[in-house]
Amino acid sequence: AKQCIANQSSHAHLNAFVSLADKAVVLARVAAAESTRGRHDDDLVGQLIAVKDNICTSDLPTTASSGILKSFVSPYDATVVKQLRDAGAVISGKTNMDEFGMGSHSAHSHFGPVKGLSRSEGHASAGGSSGGSAIAVASGQCIAALGTDTGGSVRLPAAYTGIVGFKPSYGLLSRWGVIAYANSLDTIGILANDARQTRVLFNKLNAYDPHDPTSLPPSTRQRLRTSKLGRRLRIGIPVDYNITSLDPTVKRAWIRSLRDLEAQGHSLHNVSLPATRHALSAYYVLAPAEASSNLAKYDGVRYGSRAEGPDGTPDSVLFSKTRGQGFGPEVQRRILLGAFSLSAQAMDNYFIQAQKVRRLVQRDFDSVFAAPNPLLSVEDVEKESETENGVDVLVCPTAPTSAPLLEKVQNQDPIDAYMNDVFTVPASLAGLPAISVPVDGDGEKVGMQVIGQYGDDRMVLDTAQLLG
Ligand code: GLN
Repeated sequence: AKQCIANQSSHAHLNAFVSLADKAVVLARVAAAESTRGRHDDDLVGQLIAVKDNICTSDLPTTASSGILKSFVSPYDATVVKQLRDAGAVISGKTNMDEFGMGSHSAHSHFGPVKGLSRSEGHASAGGSSGGSAIAVASGQCIAALGTDTGGSVRLPAAYTGIVGFKPSYGLLSRWGVIAYANSLDTIGILANDARQTRVLFNKLNAYDPHDPTSLPPSTRQRLRTSKLGRRLRIGIPVDYNITSLDPTVKRAWIRSLRDLEAQGHSLHNVSLPATRHALSAYYVLAPAEASSNLAKYDGVRYGSRAEGPDGTPDSVLFSKTRGQGFGPEVQRRILLGAFSLSAQAMDNYFIQAQKVRRLVQRDFDSVFAAPNPLLSVEDVEKESETENGVDVLVCPTAPTSAPLLEKVQNQDPIDAYMNDVFTVPASLAGLPAISVPVDGDGEKVGMQVIGQYGDDRMVLDTAQLLG
């Protein structure tokens, strides 16, 4: 813990944290936790863990890196925070991020951008939106961190900073106390130095929470399979991910990882996921639509900061001034996009179409995995089980390139920024477990992604351990 605290000072310029817990308080909590050692399982006792600033904590502000929430302090801890504290972990601070989770480089923050790994030409992008969490882990300011992953926000920063980032199956980890971006996609994710540590946190957090209406109930949890490590895995190679914009270094790393797995006795199989081509467009219709609805509550009356104005200002003026000042440009863009795609004139052509694509993406995955989707009804499973030639997991890159320079992406066209999510968004649309693992890519680290069938989280973690 002392080393982590020292690293916080020496790496303060990376801007990984929005707020840090008081050092004396942290050390006292570590000492108190240490004194309970031996009472339960000690994996996390006295360990410093950082938490993304869209996850509520009662002792530190929760801003989602937005101007509109800059002085918000939650009256309670999110369930995941409580679970970590109960396990003896100490929350060291709240990490910087793209405002409300909207972005891929942690550059859209009210508190300034997170700086990624240092290169001779300048700082790289830390990835986003959980870039603060990723850099906090990568620079040794904590042993692990929580993030959120809606369309890749844990996996992409992990890939860009050379660490592990895991997005579990949708509904396994509680979202109670997590500020919503797009509820049907939002997932708590874990960032750590290796797959083993990631698994330790996952095991602590993977529990039903009655406070979260989307938390998977115990009866369904019982239907999930247990891992099958120790047998030959059938590894799927999604050929549709071999796109022209794939960087040669990333492609070579992909091939090397596959050969590596083959050398360990696992078999490789080409699979096709044709709807993947449309997944990114569908995501950028659905996520903003849900966001525009979720963010409507920040109006200066019920939540957050309020624009200055004399009493008696008409509500509409108060709302628009508050929202105009409180939300950054990317959030405003998403709200407009979402409000448009949900409007009567655009609904059929955008929102409904995107929902259909989402269903096709889910079907694609179900058709390539050997295991049936445990969320489908029994009749559906019978119809769909053509499992003979199915695969256990898919392995593909996390992003088309390694981390770009921060300076470059700050002036990037929004559409180009959205392109970074092309490989992470499909698993989000289908709610599947997916992890990014750092592998060697011509001397630098490249993120390799493992995707599994719904509920096969342990198998995904097992495969990550084989790669890492
Ligand atoms: N980059 C994606 C977005 O901006 C993903 C963000 C996320 O997963 N929170 O929507």
